[in-house]
Amino acid sequence: MTICVSVNAANIEEAAEATAAAKELGADLVEIRFDLMENPMEDLTPLKDIDIPKLITLRSKSYGGEWESDDKARLQLYRRAVKAGFKLIDLEDDSSLLGSRDRDLRKAELLVSHHDLEGTPPESKLIEIMLQAGVKGDLAKGAFTVNTVEELHNLVKAGNLISMTGKKFVLLGMGEFGPITRLRYRRIGSSMTFASLESGKETAMGQIDITTLKKMEKGVITGIIGMPLGHSYSPTLHHNAFEAMDISGMYLKFPTRENEVPLIIDLMRDLNINGLNVTIPHKESVIEYLDKIEDSAEDVGAVNVIVNRKGRLIGMNTDVSGIAQAFKAANADVNGKRSLIIGAGGAARACAAFLRSEDADIFITNRTMPRAEEVASMFSGQAVGADEAINLEPDVVINCTPLGMKGFPSELPIDPKILRTGQVVMDVIYNPELTPLLIEAESRGCSIISGKEMLIYQAIDAFEAWTGQRPSYEVMAEAVRKEQE
Ligand code: NAP
Repeated sequence: MTICVSVNAANIEEAAEATAAAKELGADLVEIRFDLMENPMEDLTPLKDIDIPKLITLRSKSYGGEWESDDKARLQLYRRAVKAGFKLIDLEDDSSLLGSRDRDLRKAELLVSHHDLEGTPPESKLIEIMLQAGVKGDLAKGAFTVNTVEELHNLVKAGNLISMTGKKFVLLGMGEFGPITRLRYRRIGSSMTFASLESGKETAMGQIDITTLKKMEKGVITGIIGMPLGHSYSPTLHHNAFEAMDISGMYLKFPTRENEVPLIIDLMRDLNINGLNVTIPHKESVIEYLDKIEDSAEDVGAVNVIVNRKGRLIGMNTDVSGIAQAFKAANADVNGKRSLIIGAGGAARACAAFLRSEDADIFITNRTMPRAEEVASMFSGQAVGADEAINLEPDVVINCTPLGMKGFPSELPIDPKILRTGQVVMDVIYNPELTPLLIEAESRGCSIISGKEMLIYQAIDAFEAWTGQRPSYEVMAEAVRKEQE
């Protein structure tokens, strides 16, 4: 592993302290960002005795740094750094100093860097930039803001192609998609990754601190794909589990558009992402890109969990097992019971698969009746209109529409006349924990089950599929409480 810690310090004393700390933490190289110092011209003596290769960087304002002075001052500082034992000098790929024949500069290795704060270009352009930087110095470095899955794919594929030249280079992403490129840099072909000394001391967006990076060397990378992802509790649930169970792992968000589904699946293999949750709207469309679909997912026609087993991607559905465990924990026996599902989307199909496995009598009602008919035919159920549903006298009622969810109309999804003592009523919504339907049902003497239970159990099953270890209910419930605060 080659980790360069990028030091963000106000003065030389602080920089020396940070350099020593970085060495102690196992850094292989330290970059000192002189452009971030109050007085970059300070005496460099405090740094001299710290025995670790050092890189001097004066990042220009136009590339996200603070350096505004001219090339004369830049050259002066570089010369002093080389005299103080710095092994590497960072020069931006458009610097006029690149052609310099300065003898002092030639004593250090030149890292020729390119920064794009806007985005990541297509593969061919990125390769051109990196190869050009490579011929201008000893080591090319590219840092690109990665805004989308497509841009992440460009970066990874370009890195893989450049590595075929056999020449060393550094290629990293910045921004929301930055962390995965810094964790799995070797898989991109990059010979080095840049880290911060500690969290809060980052010198670029997407940087990870060295302690976490080291811990993650053999760690599990998981995450979620879908669009939008802002509402999801899953990152908190899984982070809580990693922490509580002392497993080195991360859960990252990959906002993914429909056309990017094959790309993220490709990246899952390329970057060795160990597991992914799949959410709206990709639970169905992802299926065709996977190597194997387990029966749980085949039944529902939807995948909410992908496990990467040595490059073989297995699709499964833990929504169904989550619902089953939620009913079991509530001691609610649905075997052979008359059950009404409201809604005909993904959650409704997961509920129907569970009810079918329990030989329940399944009825489905939905705003769009043809969809109810479609789901009913998949699960040997019956589609019923809202009026008809009122007279069904079901034992079990499950809401699978977003009505009552935060951000949606605070309405009952069905006429409350249907609710009566002794029924089991579940709402798959988990935010709020008690929906208008559950409040109404409880006041009418029904047993209620919150969508929070399904959320917790589906996450426990997913976590176990990815790590082989099963977190406790309490660990996940605590994460839900954190989200609700
Ligand atoms: P989906 O596939 O988009 O289906 C949504 C369903 O709700 C469709 O049947 C839709 O009817 C109906 N619907 C939407 N807006 C409606 C409205 N204003 N009035 C009446 N019906 C409406 O979504 P999903 O994946 O099934 O998710 C549904 C709910 O389940 C969401 O609230 C989601 O957060 C929750 N969920 C919870 C968990 C958990 O772990 N607890 C897991 C998955 C989902 P049409 O067919 O007419 O469009």
